[in-house]
Amino acid sequence: MAFIDARNLDDGASLSADLCIVGAGACGTTLAAELEGSPLSILLVESGGFGPDEETQALDDLESVGYPIREKFMSRARYYGGSCNLWAGRNMLLEPIDTAPRSWVARSGWPIPYAEIASYHARAARALRLPSIEAFDPSTYANRMTRDENALFAEGPLRPAISLWGTKPRRFGAAHRKRLRRSAKTRVLLQANAVRIALDREGRAVESIEARTLAGKRIEIRARSFVLACGGIENARLLLVSRDRRPDGVGNGSGAVGRFFMDHPRAVYGTVRLRKGNRIPLIRGIPLRDGKVQFGIGLSEEIQRGEGLLDHYATLEARYSAYVEQKYETMVQSAKVLLRRGYAGSRWKIGRAEFGEIPGMIYLLTPKELMPHFVYRWMTTIRRAWNPESGGNERVVVYFCEQPPDSESRVALSDERDALGIPRVRLHWKIPPEVSRTLLCLQDLLAERLETAGIGTLTPGEGEPRFSDASHHLGTTRMSDDPREGVVDRNCRAHDVRNLYLAGGSVFPATGHSSPTLTMIALALRLADHLRDDQ
Ligand SMILES: Cc1cc2nc3c(=O)[nH]c(=O)nc-3n(C[C@H](O)[C@H](O)[C@H](O)COP(=O)(O)OP(=O)(O)OC[C@H]3O[C@@H](n4cnc5c(N)ncnc54)[C@H](O)[C@@H]3O)c2cc1C
Repeated sequence: MAFIDARNLDDGASLSADLCIVGAGACGTTLAAELEGSPLSILLVESGGFGPDEETQALDDLESVGYPIREKFMSRARYYGGSCNLWAGRNMLLEPIDTAPRSWVARSGWPIPYAEIASYHARAARALRLPSIEAFDPSTYANRMTRDENALFAEGPLRPAISLWGTKPRRFGAAHRKRLRRSAKTRVLLQANAVRIALDREGRAVESIEARTLAGKRIEIRARSFVLACGGIENARLLLVSRDRRPDGVGNGSGAVGRFFMDHPRAVYGTVRLRKGNRIPLIRGIPLRDGKVQFGIGLSEEIQRGEGLLDHYATLEARYSAYVEQKYETMVQSAKVLLRRGYAGSRWKIGRAEFGEIPGMIYLLTPKELMPHFVYRWMTTIRRAWNPESGGNERVVVYFCEQPPDSESRVALSDERDALGIPRVRLHWKIPPEVSRTLLCLQDLLAERLETAGIGTLTPGEGEPRFSDASHHLGTTRMSDDPREGVVDRNCRAHDVRNLYLAGGSVFPATGHSSPTLTMIALALRLADHLRDDQ
């Protein structure tokens, strides 16, 4: 039907629909697009407009009191299309062990079986425009694996952990914009910040949501069902600040709202010197006709079970001089400004961000993101044919870690308030010692395999590993069958509010190491099916 700018509505206006989705990011737009054409009338409510804006972005500012997160780094984007306006487009599948209960990982295990999540993988891969679901299967590359790579993964504790990219990172907002604009039964309300969930008298159902514009106009949204798709931090915040009927917030009978916050801690730790003449193209990443694949180095299920380890993986990345990095950062900053990706006025300060010992390149745009796919493919092929070892023989080891669920790692409310008078988030990110323990085991196993396979030598990292966050915000409204243990049930419906659903990483009860967006999209598609069937 239309995109509506909330600033043009009257103060006190009331809108209604069958279904209200709050948040037009990856999950919100996917859900709306999937349900478009169903009999449901939909109102998709989004805080921002079509581009980044300083004042709206500032509503996301938070107080960090736990393990330090990256400073001055835009880990979320608060405008139409959400954080996938900025994302790097790395896709991975959860592994079966990540969703199974593991005796050595407290509160692990998903209530839904792996097969059920996997039944949505192919649809999610299509939604993300990935080469194919088969491209996640290591055996697809059997003919392309070199002797070195076969030796590394042969019969042992290490297994390939596959990452896949499409030709460009999917921008969900832009991708669905035309369809939503033309839809007969869907409206998108922009510049409308959901600030409060109002429950009915019994406190068992959502009656309405109050949204406000930055200038303070109030809009009431009524619907039969509501989905919160505001991202893993804002979903929890909105539930916690809505305290009219329940002092602990909406859907918080278990006290789990905001708790069990997880990210994927990343560390650059140690280096590998590759033997001359080494051949590890898949580990470095190869272009495909319609994307890119990279083999990470993960831990086999057997070793995780046997040694009580978490599910981490590592990659071997090129090492650049500080000079090259600095030049590249400047170039990326300019490119992001030009592409209007992540640029939000003076807030975009990545060029001045302090990356410490962690090379900034890993968090910036990769060359693949900056150039059209055909140019990237062509360049990589020529470069490698010319010089198979290009990129240097020295590599840094980057660990991508699983963080186990812990109720003390949490999103709570701060005493500070945002421009709308809503309490900000106080984030206490806690990384337990098991994360470093698994990292050090993986380091030892990798050193041993590289040596035995004659690929190279690993120099271990010094001191304690230092972690960085990865903009993966997970776990704050966890899924459980038991209402005392979590916030949503296996259909992503709040246990104690009958018409309220949650979408996105906040429902993950455990995370594995995998970049989470593909699983979020799989769950959004599953929720769309549920809502369609549930009318
Ligand atoms: C730099 C960067 C790189 C990343 N790289 C990867 C990667 O390679 N692989 C991967 O899997 N993931 C990656 N991610 C994470 C990925 O972007 C997220 O997992 C994904 O965007 C989450 O989707 P979502 O729909 O749950 O939330 P979001 O995309 O964040 O969308 C939430 C939406 O809700 C809106 N909103 C928030 N609060 C309110 C409110 N109160 N009222 C109304 N609207 C509201 C926001 O404006 C936003 O549009 C990356 C993230 C960043 C920032």
